[in-house]
Amino acid sequence: MTDPRPKQGKSVFIRTYGCQMNVYDSERMAGLLKPLGYGVAETPEGADLVILNTCHIREKAAEKVYSELGRLKRLKADKAKAGGEMKIAVAGCVAQAEGPEITARAPQVDMVVGPQAYHRLPELIAKAARERGDVLDTDFAVEEKFDRLAAREAEGPTAFLTVQEGCDKFCTFCVVPYTRGAEVSRNVDAIVAEARSLAAQGVKEITLIGQNVNAWASNPPAGVVGDQWGLGELCRHLARIDGIERIRFTTSHPRDMDDGLIAALGEEEKLMPYLHLPVQAGSDKILKAMNRGHTAEHYVKLIERIRAARPDIALSGDFIVGFPGETSEDFEATLALVDTVGYASAYSFKYSRRPGTPGAAMQKQVAEDEKDDRLARLQSLLERQRQAFNEAQIGAELPVLFEKPGRHEGQLIGRSPYLQSVHVEAPQSLLGSVAKVKIEGVTPNALAGALKTKEEAAA
Ligand code: SF4
Repeated sequence: MTDPRPKQGKSVFIRTYGCQMNVYDSERMAGLLKPLGYGVAETPEGADLVILNTCHIREKAAEKVYSELGRLKRLKADKAKAGGEMKIAVAGCVAQAEGPEITARAPQVDMVVGPQAYHRLPELIAKAARERGDVLDTDFAVEEKFDRLAAREAEGPTAFLTVQEGCDKFCTFCVVPYTRGAEVSRNVDAIVAEARSLAAQGVKEITLIGQNVNAWASNPPAGVVGDQWGLGELCRHLARIDGIERIRFTTSHPRDMDDGLIAALGEEEKLMPYLHLPVQAGSDKILKAMNRGHTAEHYVKLIERIRAARPDIALSGDFIVGFPGETSEDFEATLALVDTVGYASAYSFKYSRRPGTPGAAMQKQVAEDEKDDRLARLQSLLERQRQAFNEAQIGAELPVLFEKPGRHEGQLIGRSPYLQSVHVEAPQSLLGSVAKVKIEGVTPNALAGALKTKEEAAA
């Protein structure tokens, strides 16, 4: 039997679209391929394997993938002319949603691998090498994927850690329940093992990720008696790992924000005071049409409870304007909610029809120019709130985790507890550690500050 493993010195280029789940998945794919001799290439030109890790959430996502595949077809032909071979794989949510269509429309694609199947990439590569034609693997087998992913190498002092996948909420605008499948929680022992391995490699901050991360639920770890744990218990447990100094989690759903998690936010210092809690709209009529399962009042009251538990919490949200049936009064209700809550940052988009979702078939689609106007008004309000939040930090002393060198000599860039980028004159020796920084100014996208103690500045 021939050894399916590529020779040392092969290269893989991975292009990542979309959310943090995909960023994490791409890192894991690179980690899976490393033992097979694949180094990561910075560009697709000349790579032996190109993976497009796709996202289906935005408009024209599939079209963008096909246009990128057109470019790759030329690169593949160039490589063949030079006597080499380039394999092309499409991974992620577009792969899941449109697998057979991709292989039919883009014969240059060798592998189509869904988000729950990429742990089988090494086998797929071997299979693609053996067989002519494309290889399609879009089965849902999340547990198996979690089990088979080897411990990965950390890159820098922060890392994502997947604890949950999938979604059962079926918001009427969203494809995730169809592409990522039902909610599945990873077991505590596997999460702890990965967190310990990351901590041992110098990771100080872990961000627990999942489509509905706060729907995470699992039996307690081996040897601990008791009821099912929720995300609050998991965070408290992970906070006991030596070396882990900061914990974050994203993305949360308002319906899964339970008392245990709110209490943990209030009591566990390692949990950062920053919460991404999408609401999407401020009108109950639109929330119902979106199938969000809560009202605007429920959301606002929930924020009050979270703020009572953790007064310094900063909030981030997601908003969609121009959902089918949204009147100007409905939109005003969104502005009113934003005014009431006050966000430190936010993501906002125009509604776009996603094929196969209930929203795509709804009557009363909103005209594009109306959506443009509403988005501009909403973004202007959110931007004012973001700037005000940043300016309010001037004079504060914030613990900053230094992640990378800045553009200027002697400068480091780190993150505040509120996920703001902070630029500081600081010695390289502080990279990967947390130090107190006095905030002195704000730029459009970052804070600027100085190390609090002379000793740190001279370290
Ligand atoms: S909660 Fe709604 S928006 Fe979020 S992933 Fe699930 S269906 Fe999509």
